[in-house]
Formats: sequence, structure tokens, C-alpha cells
Amino acid sequence: MELPAEFIQRLHEIVREADWEQVLESFQFPRQPAFRVNTLRSAPNEVLSQLAAEGLQAQPVSWSETAFTVAMADRERLTHSGPANRGELYVQSLSSQLAALLLEPQPGEQILDLAAAPGGKSSHLAALMQNQGWLSVVEPIRDRFFRLQANLKRLGVSIAHTYLTDGRTVARKTGPRFDRVLLDAPCSAESRFQLGQPESFQFWSPRKIRESARKQFGLIRSAWGALRPGGRLLYCTCTFAPEENEAIVAGLLEEQGAAAEVLELPEWLPHSQVGLGKFAGTEFPAACERTRRILPTNAHDAFYFALLEKKA
Ligand code: SAM
Repeated sequence: MELPAEFIQRLHEIVREADWEQVLESFQFPRQPAFRVNTLRSAPNEVLSQLAAEGLQAQPVSWSETAFTVAMADRERLTHSGPANRGELYVQSLSSQLAALLLEPQPGEQILDLAAAPGGKSSHLAALMQNQGWLSVVEPIRDRFFRLQANLKRLGVSIAHTYLTDGRTVARKTGPRFDRVLLDAPCSAESRFQLGQPESFQFWSPRKIRESARKQFGLIRSAWGALRPGGRLLYCTCTFAPEENEAIVAGLLEEQGAAAEVLELPEWLPHSQVGLGKFAGTEFPAACERTRRILPTNAHDAFYFALLEKKA
């Protein structure tokens, strides 16, 4: 089965020509397995030597001391390894690990994760906060919520307050109190498309993109409303669609005017391309060029990141 022709045509408008072949190739093979050392339970050296004792060699990543990859053939063994069972590592894609690093939560702060299950990024936030402060995590889907709670417990997170609720209602209840908010929005998940897994893309449609975008806009409004003046919001998705990315940021900027500033993302971001200035006849504000897409490689999933600050 082939990827939908309309998806490919749209993608061609999104990805730079120089990266096109690599991006197309990325749909053919699963990504290299990656993990994050959970510093709430262990340390990189300890985890690496435990893995080595089980015959697993991990490779470091240049931009994080706690991110590693293993060989493709070792995926199952990594998932069932001693450190994984004990919550000393969390199997997590490299691009997903960028989110908490970009938000830079500090110990003692009040942080909100507005779309949190299964908790990979929430637990990374807690680790960066050294389990000090307050972490509100929100998930509206019941079975995903219980999985989130179980993961946080297994990973030793002690500062999380979990809420089974729709993220769009949160700002109304909390008011603007959080120092930082992560919105890892539910999306059309185009980065997960794999040619060998037709179920990953067979339900894709432009209509689904529009539906996701509607929900994402409700969520980003709530995320913004929950943020204190001077606070930071990281918006991200694992999809290419500009309607779910630049257009959501553009909509917020239009509503908030000078109160919202899009911040530059760091130079070390791997395999990234600046946000689009226009797509399918729609122009985006120049500030959207400070947002970034991670392009897929054999080790990185496609992702989109926008970091915003609420002016005091
Ligand atoms: N941040 C998570 C992690 O790193 O483990 C992954 C989050 S996933 C991309 C998006 C999540 O948003 C899903 O668990 C989905 O159930 C949840 N979601 C869907 N609708 C939502 C809503 N209205 N409010 C909050 N979360 C929602």
C-alpha cells in the first residue's frame, strides 16, 4: 500500500527540496530505538553498565547527556531490560525528548502538561525539576489516564497532580498561574506513518487535519490562559500539517497581539527546518519562522516546536 497521494503532494510543499529524498525514505523503515535515562531513579553511567551487562550497547546523542539510542535489532530487549522494568530508563523517541529540554522547567516552579498520557514528557519535566515544585498533568481519556498515573509512579515522579479532564477547560479553573506550560497536542500523527503499517496512514484525510486543528486551537487557548505573565508555553505536535502547526501559532498571535512573543529555538536542534512563511495560499506571520520542524531521519521522528512567551 502506498502513502496517500494528497499527503505526498502536501509534504512536497512543506519539506525543502534538499531534504526530500531523506524524508520520503524515512517512511520505509521504523526509527532506531531510543531511550532517556530517568535521573529520578538512576544515572547514565549506571544504566549504561546495567545494559552492557545484558549485552546491550547504547550510543550517546550530542544534545543531551541522558538520551541514547540502541541498534534496531535491540528494540525488544531494551523494552524488557532490567533498567526499563525498574523505571531507570524510559523508552522514548529522540524528538520527544526535545520537548522538555526546550521548555526548560526549573526546580520549584509550577508546570502544566496539558495533554500528558502516557507521561513520557511529564516524567522528563519532573526529572528536570528534580521532583521539586508542582506539576499538573491532564489527560481526558480514561484508560490513557490510568496508564499515565502508573507510568509516573513507576518512574518515581512525586510532584505530579493528575487530572482526568479535557484540557480545554483547564484555564477556566486555574486562571493564569503556571510558570511554564507544555502542550504536546493530539494531532494527525503524520510522523508515525510507516509503509509497512498501512493502519498508520489509511485513515488520514484533510478533514482529520481540520478536526485536529479545531481541537488544538481550543487547547492552545486554554494553555495560554493558564500561563502567568512572563511564563513560557511550548506547543508541539508529531505531524507535518501546517494547519496543525504554524496556523495554530498564527491564530494565537492574532488573538493575543503584542502579549505573545515567539522565541528563537536553540541552534543545536537536530535536523530542523524553520517554520513556513506560507502554505496552500495562507500566509503566516513572520514570527512563525522562529518555530521549527524536526525532519525525520533514521533516528529522529518528525516534530514541530513553537516556544512562546507571555509578555508581563
Ligand atoms: N505528552 C505525551 C507523552 O509524551 O507521553 C503524549 C501526548 S499525545 C501526543 C496527546 C494526548 O492528548 C493523548 O494522550 C490524547 O488522549 C490527549 N488528548 C486528546 N484530547 C485531549 C483534550 N481535549 N485535552 C487534553 N488532552 C487531550
